[in-house]
Amino acid sequence: MSARLEVEAITCEYPGQVAVRDLGFDVEPGSLVCLLGPSGCGKTTVLRAIAGFHPLSTGEIRIDHKVVSASGFSLAPEQRRVGMVFQEHALFPHMTAGQNVAAGLRRLPAAERGRLVEEFLDKVGLAGFGSRYPHELSGGQQQRIALARALAPRPALLLMDEPFSSLDLDLREKLGIEVHDLLKREGITSVLVTHDQYDAFALADFVGVMHGGRIVQWDTPYRLYHEPQTRFVADFVGDGVFVDGRIRDLNSVQTELGVVRGRSAREFLNDAEVDVLIRPDDIVPSDEPTLRATVVRKAFKGAEILYTLRLSSGAEVLSLFPSHDDHAVGDTVGVRLNAEHLVVFPK
Ligand code: ATP
Repeated sequence: MSARLEVEAITCEYPGQVAVRDLGFDVEPGSLVCLLGPSGCGKTTVLRAIAGFHPLSTGEIRIDHKVVSASGFSLAPEQRRVGMVFQEHALFPHMTAGQNVAAGLRRLPAAERGRLVEEFLDKVGLAGFGSRYPHELSGGQQQRIALARALAPRPALLLMDEPFSSLDLDLREKLGIEVHDLLKREGITSVLVTHDQYDAFALADFVGVMHGGRIVQWDTPYRLYHEPQTRFVADFVGDGVFVDGRIRDLNSVQTELGVVRGRSAREFLNDAEVDVLIRPDDIVPSDEPTLRATVVRKAFKGAEILYTLRLSSGAEVLSLFPSHDDHAVGDTVGVRLNAEHLVVFPK
């Protein structure tokens, strides 16, 4: 059932503008991948090209080894077996939830259609909601109906464009986990497009970070966060700040916070001045601190508090403390460096 998707060196243009440049990635059957990037980087255009709504200037798109798009060729969207879920206004407002789910099943006999509608309403946790109209459903329920409608025809591939962005934070996290689990259970190959790294991290096996129409890093969420390969990825993915560092040897960098070790130091000459990425989880509270810092800002996050700390040099870093470690702005706190990965860029 689940398909392999291959996107090979595609370029997409609008009049006077190249929106996607020489971009490629492969998706294993049953995998969930995400294209993540700022507004205007070309994410939606890639999704539209995969769905068959945007032509390719160069390159090729294959679904299960069959060419569906190439320069001068485009298989009709309805022949690609692709399901789509969009940000909002996804449902037909004059149809009930059940009729919406049935909309993609018109070719089936009525009894089979009815059975599938019930099955997929149940799968998205909305059994019994079939006769409600979209305006009688919450935003999250509407998105689940949209998902049921996309999945009921058993697509080879599911494409989702910012499916949670109209929902509030709590709901999007919860729905994100539900959708992840459902897609994994069903084994549907999926591509999600979002500018929100938390959606990407919660859902995707692999994430392609896009910038200016290209994928600048294709990696697991873990490696994107801990081993960003460019300054753009380091900035765009996760919180963090750059502090001044000086290369000591092949394996270490001296910073004001202490020595950070890692192999990426070997790309620089000894004594080179560099910027070192410090994530909030790289600085931890300590009873035997190696460093004292002043709290300049705090943001309560529930289980944790994100402090902005000022070091003696005046540089500011972020640090995550357990929530019961409650300090006031102006307090001095003891911390130590606990960086597992060295991420370093030329100054
Ligand atoms: P967003 O997150 O804001 O939706 P995106 O990353 O999905 O952005 P695209 O919608 O793919 O980006 O747009 C990529 C580029 O192509 C942008 O610079 C955009 O201005 C341009 N573009 C998009 N649609 C058109 C169009 N119909 N005509 C001309 N240019 C377009």
